[in-house]
Formats: sequence, C-alpha cells, structure tokens
Amino acid sequence: MTALLDPGTFNGTVYSGGWTVPSGGSRAIIEPATGAELGRTGLADESDVDKAAAGAAAAQRDWAAASFEERAGVLRRAGTLVEQHFEEIKTWVIRETGAVVGAAEFFVGVAAQECYEAAALASQPPGQLLPTNQPRLSMLKRVPAGVVGVISPFNVPLILSIRSVAPALALGNAVVLKPDPRTPVSGGFAIARVFAEAGLPDGLLHVLPGGPEAGSALVADPHVRVISFTGSTAAGRKVGELAARHLKRAHLELGGNSALIVLDDVDVERAVSAGAWGSFLHQGQICMTTGRHLVHERVADSYVEAPAEHAGHLPVGNPHTDQVALGPLIDEGQLNKVHGLVRSTVDAGARLASGGTYEGLFYRPTVLDAVGTDMPAYANEVFGPVAPVVRFSSEEEAAALASASEYGLSLSILTGDAMRGLALAERIPTGIAHINDQTVNDEAVAPFGGVAASGTGARFGGLSNMDAFTETRWITVRGEIPQYPF
Ligand code: NAD
Repeated sequence: MTALLDPGTFNGTVYSGGWTVPSGGSRAIIEPATGAELGRTGLADESDVDKAAAGAAAAQRDWAAASFEERAGVLRRAGTLVEQHFEEIKTWVIRETGAVVGAAEFFVGVAAQECYEAAALASQPPGQLLPTNQPRLSMLKRVPAGVVGVISPFNVPLILSIRSVAPALALGNAVVLKPDPRTPVSGGFAIARVFAEAGLPDGLLHVLPGGPEAGSALVADPHVRVISFTGSTAAGRKVGELAARHLKRAHLELGGNSALIVLDDVDVERAVSAGAWGSFLHQGQICMTTGRHLVHERVADSYVEAPAEHAGHLPVGNPHTDQVALGPLIDEGQLNKVHGLVRSTVDAGARLASGGTYEGLFYRPTVLDAVGTDMPAYANEVFGPVAPVVRFSSEEEAAALASASEYGLSLSILTGDAMRGLALAERIPTGIAHINDQTVNDEAVAPFGGVAASGTGARFGGLSNMDAFTETRWITVRGEIPQYPF
C-alpha cells in the first residue's frame, strides 16, 4: 500500500485545489517529545482563505445536487481508507500531538466511525411533511448550509476536525478546514488525503493551517455560511462575536472543567482507577478531562492516597519509542501554563500529594489535596495531567460544588447505587453526564457538546449533525393559485 502522508507531499504547502504554496509562509511541524522537525506546513493568510472559500462555494452547487448514494459512497470509502491507513495515521497522531499509543488508536478508530456515521446521514429523510390548514403540501426541506468553515484545536485534532468535515460533506456542503498550525497533519492533511483518495470531487475540501487571523478571515468570509469552532472559551467568544456581526451561525464547542463526584458508597479502588484515567489520559489535554475531583469525606483519604501512589509510578516519556502512560505536553506555552497553575495552587495552601515536576515537556501526573474552590488549579481549566481533590460531606454540597463552575461540559458520578447517581446528575447542568464512568467519553453516534461557557448548546454527533450542517426551508405546493379578496 502506498503511503498516505509522505512529508514530501505537503511540504510547505496547504491543500486548496491541490497542494499549493500559500501567501502566509510556512513553519516547522515539531514533534513535542523530541523537538525534531517532522516536516513543514504552509500557513494560510486572509487571501488564501478568500480564494479557498470562493472555490469551495463554486464546487458546492454540483455536490449538493449529487445523489445521496454518491455522497454516502465517498464517506464510506473515506472510513475504509482511515482503517486501511490506521498505522500511518496513528503514528502521525502520536508524533505530532504526543498522544500515547492507546489514545492514538482510539482517536483513529473514532475518526473512521465519524466517516461511517456521516455516510449513513446522507440517506436520512431530508425533511418532513407538515400539517397545514390549506389545500396544499407543506414541507420542511433540509438543504445544505453551503460552505462550512471548520476551526479545530491542537489536542485531538483528527477527531475534532473530522467530526465536522465528514457530516458537512455528507450533507452536501463544501468545507474549508483551518487546523491549528502545530498539528496540521493529523488535524487536516491526513483528512485531505483520505478524501482525495476516496474520490471526493475537486474543490470541496480545503485545508488551510493558520493562526487566529486565518480563523477570523474564515469566520468573516462572505462565502462561509456556518462556522464549526472547537477550542478555548476565550477564542470561542471572539469567534461568536465576529460570526454574529456577519449574521452567521457558529457552533461553538469550548473549554471545560468537568467534575467527577465520588460518593461514599463507592468501590474506592475502581473509583481511583477511573479518576486517574479521567485526569491523566492524553496528559489531561482533553476538553472533557476530569478537572475537579469532588470526594465524600468518608472515602477521601484512601481516594487521594491511592492515585498519588499510582501517579508516582506511571511512566512518562516519548510515546513513539517507549511504552508510556503519559506523553509530552504540546509545547512550552502549555507547560508553563500548567506548572504556573500547580505552583500557585500549592502556594495558596494545597498539598502536593504527587507530581508537580517536569522534564522537558514531560509533566508528571499530579495530585493536589486540601484544595480550596478558589485555588487556581481548581477554578480554571488546567489542560494538563492534574487532579485537584476537594472534599464534601453531603450530596447537597456535592451538587452545589459541581454546579459552581462557569463551564458545563461533562460530569461523572461514581457510586454503588446507579439510580442515586442519576438523581444527583439531574441537579447539575452539563451537556454530558456519565454514571459510574469517568468524564472522558466519545462516540460518533452520541450528541456531543456543553452548556454555559463550554459552548452555545449546539451538538455534534449522530442526528444532531443534521441540525448543525443544514438549513431548513419551508416549502408549500398547491395545485391551483388561490383566489384572494383583492
Ligand atoms: P484555541 O482556542 O487557542 O485554538 C483553537 C483553534 O482556534 C486553533 O485552530 C486556533 O488557531 C483558532 N483560533 C484562536 N483564536 C482564534 C480567533 N480569534 N478566531 C478564529 N480562530 C481562532 O484553543 P487551544 O488552546 O488550542 O485548544 C484547547 C482548548 O480547546 C481547551 O480550552 C479545550 O477545552 C478546548 N476544546 C474543546 C472541545 C469541545 O468539544 N468542547 C474539544 C477539544 C478542545
């Protein structure tokens, strides 16, 4: 099988009507574990975005008119190609983002699933017959939005790009994708190659790595009708404001600081394992990462000591060459942010039960005990492998603590009584809740998204993608023109 992603293919270019040299220059793609240069990516500027969006709009009309079988076929082949090139894509995910092997395998598996689910979306009924008091047919028809702009972050770039690209294409849209320039391959070029091989007609998918300016240009571009943004709450606010000024729809999937509540009837050993996974998987760089451990005071001592002990033994290192549980953080900026939040929390009086140190970009899994709710590592999204623990004495207190966050993405409740967990979850507003599991879960069929500062309430996944990537049109049809009074 020929390689999907030879660095010579994309070296210094972007994917926009083929591999082209953009006006915004280029930059190195750096492997965070080693500092090695993996290749170079082109960088898009406003003029590149403008060209791509115009090209996408021109190509979209024929695609929207193509049969649903043709669109579904491309999506199915894309899913198969992701599976056929599993090892190669996985290696890029590991080397470019620092994901450990198991995490990378999960990410590539979900990416294939996103394509298959999108293929199924193409043959969903495209509307409804509506009741009407008139002698006419009254219909709701779903039509493609047009050109969809997708902006994705560095942490899980493959899933966070393809979860919008695949359903948007399946539903007859064209896409301009702007991945984070630190992760252009797994966030974009891999997807461009897969869809080119799958037979997607030219001009329908453009991949333009670039910074915030390229993102803003995409939001403002008159050809782009819908924006799908995944990233931080701060950037999401700017995207939302700009989209509103241009009167276009923006789906915003933003930051989180998800709580995991451990009730007093829990199996502590299992809870510790779930809690450690929720906080340390992918070095805590997941929007659903368990950012706050709320633990009943009766089980808190054993809950804290076990993960602290466990964390002390977890291997941290280069996931491409060694069998490790944690890889590197993405870059020095993230490292400094994470360490600053840990240090200021310890300075404010928390107890460092484990970790709090690093070598290069490798941050040791960290457990913080005796944390106050106003302390920085608890009150903010850390986006690193840090587990702050706060104790509570009643379910009322647990519900109040969990709800007292600006974010509302995921929630976890660990208990020996699942119905008790479900009842407690009803009292805490989040977009996602798991009883007897940790906070990090993803399936292509489930509606995914947050509330409050975690997003605008839009959902990706399964049938929610119909709402995200189409417009509805009201159409009526009469056999005869009615007679009006004048
Ligand atoms: P970020 O907001 O800095 O960047 C995300 C993307 O937006 C990048 O492509 C970036 O270039 C672009 N961007 C930045 N500013 C922009 C602007 N003003 N206009 C247009 N585009 C702009 O996010 P990050 O720090 O790279 O990613 C981590 C954040 O993403 C965390 O807060 C995490 O919780 C969040 N996230 C959310 C989800 C979710 O589904 N809710 C999933 C993953 C990550």
